[in-house]
Amino acid sequence: MKALNDNTLQNIREQIGVDALLENEPMRLHTSMEVGGPARYFFLPKSEDDLRFLLTTLEAEQYPYYIKGNGSNLIFPDEGYDGAVIEIRSMQNVTITGEEVYAEAGILLKDLSEQILAASLTGFEFASGIPGSLGGAVCMNAGAYDGEMKDIVQSVRLMTKSGEILEKTNEEMEFAYRRSLCSAGELIVLGATLKLQQGDPEAIRAKIDDLTSRRQEKQPLEYPSCGSVFKRPEGYFAGKLISDAGLKGYSIGGAQVSEKHAGFIINKGGASAQDVLDLIAYVQKTVDEKFHVQLECEVKILSCLSPQK
Ligand SMILES: Cc1cc2nc3c(=O)[nH]c(=O)nc-3n(C[C@H](O)[C@H](O)[C@H](O)COP(=O)(O)OP(=O)(O)OC[C@H]3O[C@@H](n4cnc5c(N)ncnc54)[C@H](O)[C@@H]3O)c2cc1C
Repeated sequence: MKALNDNTLQNIREQIGVDALLENEPMRLHTSMEVGGPARYFFLPKSEDDLRFLLTTLEAEQYPYYIKGNGSNLIFPDEGYDGAVIEIRSMQNVTITGEEVYAEAGILLKDLSEQILAASLTGFEFASGIPGSLGGAVCMNAGAYDGEMKDIVQSVRLMTKSGEILEKTNEEMEFAYRRSLCSAGELIVLGATLKLQQGDPEAIRAKIDDLTSRRQEKQPLEYPSCGSVFKRPEGYFAGKLISDAGLKGYSIGGAQVSEKHAGFIINKGGASAQDVLDLIAYVQKTVDEKFHVQLECEVKILSCLSPQK
């Protein structure tokens, strides 16, 4: 990929600030799996205007880019990403009006859940332990235990690639299992309005604490990971199939099928992205051979882009 020309980079720096553009930034520093090589450009827009400027500039240059939230469901290749990664994390404002919460996409779910608790609102507890941003959670229709984003999102504020702002209702968001209207990568979540209910703060805290301890007990949170690697195949549980296939603890390089939760692949230390990808492929092949079930990845695996593009 050719570099962006000096004028373009200068214009971008003037608009978004010099601190909001990093070059050749290792993606292992910005993803929960802690693997992946450098992105040619790494942008950290602080406002909708900055984001619009970036999108229109990159579109005009026909320069490839990828939208990232907190990187808790992403694997970048060891070769890196030969384009621009735009991280939506700086926009984090929250406004609570009665039982409605408008939050910007960059806020982490755990931080949002504390603000929601402080307002004595219930309905968001399920999301408190998911280590993503609100934007990533809306895009993925993240869910856990007894809830998913689809249940609480009233509407979503979006930006198109040409910088236009759209407002979509819950129905228009086409939420489905771990996907939404944004999954195609054409629309960027700027924020979402959530509809919650008045609740008892002690009961809300107790539920958050209970879900947190269930996660700590069941999930290998002491190691870098992407959470559950595979979608739940219809009629099965991915973790059980992997465990029944005898793959718990199976390693390739620094990547290992977690002993604690076979649906997780962990970075035991020094794993490369290729170790993780090889292990994913090995698990898929073994489960298919033993049980004739095709495991589909929930994690997003990036390619480095062809140098000709
Ligand atoms: C320990 C652990 C436990 C987990 N537990 C759960 C769980 O219980 N339930 C669950 O559903 N997931 C779980 N996950 C996976 C992950 O946290 C979720 O998928 C989360 O929603 C991803 O959010 P993110 O901000 O990290 O997104 P990223 O990983 O950065 O991106 C994920 C996808 O969202 C897109 N995206 C991100 N931000 C935006 C935006 N602003 N606009 C448009 N698209 C965007 C990206 O392009 C990408 O396609 C877990 C992960 C870990 C590491």
